[in-house]
Amino acid sequence: MSGWVAVAGLGPGAGDLVTPEVAAALAEATDVVGYIPYVARIAPRPGLVLHPSDNRVELDRARHALDLAAAGRRVAVVSSGDPGVFAMASALFEALEGRGDAPEIRILPGITAMLAAAARLGAPLGHDFCAINLSDNLKPWALIEKRLRLAAQADFAMAFYNPRSRARPEGFARVLEILREECGPGRLISFARAVSTPDEAIRTTTLAEARPEMADMRTVVILGNSATRRVGPWVYTPRSAP
Ligand code: SAH
Repeated sequence: MSGWVAVAGLGPGAGDLVTPEVAAALAEATDVVGYIPYVARIAPRPGLVLHPSDNRVELDRARHALDLAAAGRRVAVVSSGDPGVFAMASALFEALEGRGDAPEIRILPGITAMLAAAARLGAPLGHDFCAINLSDNLKPWALIEKRLRLAAQADFAMAFYNPRSRARPEGFARVLEILREECGPGRLISFARAVSTPDEAIRTTTLAEARPEMADMRTVVILGNSATRRVGPWVYTPRSAP
């Protein structure tokens, strides 16, 4: 039997937000490869081998998945949210480069954190927006600051992934400073934590009131553009240019 790799997005947390396509791939898989907390979301069953691994070993994990598939295994590589958004799909293709063999590969989309959060808030991403990963594991901090400033000057709404870790507590404080300089104190900013899980917590405030402690590594942060506003409990960005 020939092996395959499916790089699957598990969505933000809730079982209802796992697509039927991903559920079907998981049901056919012989092996699940991924970061420890994501593999922990997979229900064990006889014949399914779980391969949880630590966070910073994406390329090794991708190579391992390709090796298993080459040996005939059916491998699901799992990411939270969507596998193409700051996740395993790129790592898999990087591991594929330069290899002679290539198993069947499918990338199965999932609901990424910013879209799950935006739906809870209303429609903050209803006009042009961008997504920025605030982790400096894989890029220099100077590049993060440059992109942040230019995106703010271009008046994009923005979604920030990996806003704050214990290893970099000062980074997100600096992000808020830059945004206050570029966008002014009244700009709306929303903190959406653990969306669609029992720990979900969502709040919207202004840049003037925003504090670094409002975000952690389970939070996606959504900044409005200059026209983003509230209507009742909702936050939305009009579809026309400000
Ligand atoms: N591939 C994932 C993102 C991985 S990076 C996706 O598409 O969602 C990890 C970051 O995603 C976290 O630091 C956080 O910013 C965000 N995130 C993931 N799940 C989340 C959730 N349920 N609620 C809020 N943010 C989440």
